Amino acid sequence: MNTHTRRDFLKMSAAGAALGFATPAVFTSSLLAEAGEPGSERIVPFPLGTVRLGPGIFAEQAEANARYLDSLTTARLLHSFRLTAGITSNAKPYGGWESPTVELRGHFNGGHYLSAVALASATAGNSVLKSRGDEVVGGLAQCQTKNGNGYLSAFPTGLFEHLVQGKEVWAPFYTYHKIMAGLLDMYVLTGNTEALKVAEGMARWVDHYFEGISDEHRQRMLRTEYGGMNEALVNLAELTKKQQYLDTARLFEQPSILDPLAARRDELQGLHANTNVPKMIGAARMYEVTGDARYRRIAEYFLEEVLTARSYAIGNTSLDEHWTTAADQLKGSLGWTNAECCVAYNLMKLERLVFGWTGDARWMDAYERSMFNCRLGTQNAQGLKQYFFPLAAGYWRAYHSAEDSFWCCTGTGVEEFAKFTDTIYFRRGSDVYVNQFIASTLDWKEEGLKIEQSTTFPREQGTTLKISATPAKVRTVHVRIPGWTTGAAEVKVNGRPLEAVADPGSYLAIRRVWKDGDTISLSLPMTLRTETLAGDDSVAAAMYGPLVLAADMGVGPPDGPSKIISGRATMPEGLAKPDVLLKAPGPDWVRTESAGEMRLKGAGEGTQYDLLPMYEIRDQKYGVYWQMESGKKQG
Ligand SMILES: [Zn+2]
Repeated sequence: MNTHTRRDFLKMSAAGAALGFATPAVFTSSLLAEAGEPGSERIVPFPLGTVRLGPGIFAEQAEANARYLDSLTTARLLHSFRLTAGITSNAKPYGGWESPTVELRGHFNGGHYLSAVALASATAGNSVLKSRGDEVVGGLAQCQTKNGNGYLSAFPTGLFEHLVQGKEVWAPFYTYHKIMAGLLDMYVLTGNTEALKVAEGMARWVDHYFEGISDEHRQRMLRTEYGGMNEALVNLAELTKKQQYLDTARLFEQPSILDPLAARRDELQGLHANTNVPKMIGAARMYEVTGDARYRRIAEYFLEEVLTARSYAIGNTSLDEHWTTAADQLKGSLGWTNAECCVAYNLMKLERLVFGWTGDARWMDAYERSMFNCRLGTQNAQGLKQYFFPLAAGYWRAYHSAEDSFWCCTGTGVEEFAKFTDTIYFRRGSDVYVNQFIASTLDWKEEGLKIEQSTTFPREQGTTLKISATPAKVRTVHVRIPGWTTGAAEVKVNGRPLEAVADPGSYLAIRRVWKDGDTISLSLPMTLRTETLAGDDSVAAAMYGPLVLAADMGVGPPDGPSKIISGRATMPEGLAKPDVLLKAPGPDWVRTESAGEMRLKGAGEGTQYDLLPMYEIRDQKYGVYWQMESGKKQG
């Protein structure tokens, strides 16, 4: 078995991209030079309605999520907004972080909820959720009008005054950002123009709020979590072509965070992960809108550093919501409170932006890893989501309650599970990029091009793309050859193998006149390997292709407070200390019983474990990391 570190993973992908490959007549390298000026030739996603999911696990998960969204009612969602605006509401308020005394109220009800229903409407044509979204926007607009100054929140401005006065307060701008983002999603994805007007009013209030506050004072205030305020304002500036919002976005820039990253220094230790990833998304968007390459350097360095020096095999980072250790030192960090789910959501948002600048396959490899290992599987059958992702052996998955939690991770979760189609295909000019292997159909009407992707990946080690093209036209289809596959990867066009395939960790560019009925089939062999924990070569996770393999450790706790968490808590109470690590008896601790069916066994101290892809772990206890036999290097 090969052993890799997280750094190797990204390097492998990068090396593949840099080497390129032999260039037969019609197949040309997909390597892009440095992206040109922003906006010129970026690789960009298709509009959401252009891609539909085919049958399979992603569609099933999206439907469970939509059912959960459907269970929420607009009167209850609007309750605290109405009370704040002085409008009567007799609705029963939701609980948890949305209860009427919690300082984060409104973040889900008027924010994530709008984003999620807008996404569900655009990706799946869910008209019921769209009209719910319209109702909430209408209700919010009424509250804003009543407030009279552009302000819109489910709590009074007093919490923003606390921020000015340096009094303790949770995160008022974080909440404000979610609402702005939800409104912008309703505008962009469903065409609700009232939502844009409300968002503009909110932005003007922000500008006014900072009047008379010195730069130094403002920097002190920015130590309190403010989510993606910079991102929302850049997006608003781009949508409205109004410079003033870009100026307001710059009010949310922190030299103390951005300067070290611009100088490629990792000073992240001690910082709260999910407070800071959204700032990088904002920086990435600033690069795209202003062309200032410093923002790009910040975003790229941050992403590379977090994914290599600070992430676990599942493709996410953090302990107790923070970066608690020095870079490359995750030893001793496995517990219940690993890898807050929001952080993965935000890292993936950043990955798809950074990918668009270079076409570097490693960012889509990273996206795939997070999607399969720490997004898929973090929702139960009722559409309830995880908060933490325990990585100590013997723990299990726990989820929020339906009406009495409304965590941040409930919010990013309902968005994630409504947008699985957003990264499968990208485009550049008339070229198409096939980034992810998910059963789906791309219907690019302007180009008369349809691509139907059929696959049960990762059960199936490959995928098939069927092309309908009218008229027949020369174009390049770029397909990702993932960093985890082998030299035996094969690509066939209309059943005929190509002479050369791109190295693992790059895109294969296939340029030809595409005709109706053409097919591309990819065979992407997976192999078993281990990946060590950063800073501790004696601890490793087993991986198979992009999948983290988890040991099934038997029956988890029964339904109840250990599995469904209510109120403001984010983890079960009274957790017993688990083993932390599985103990591997020797170098051959994992073996493949039947690769095709993904049946693998792991041995630990006389016990045999079934190894499953992490996303297939549901109610069981599980283990991801193994203590290798001391002194023996795995090879
Ligand atoms: Zn969260």
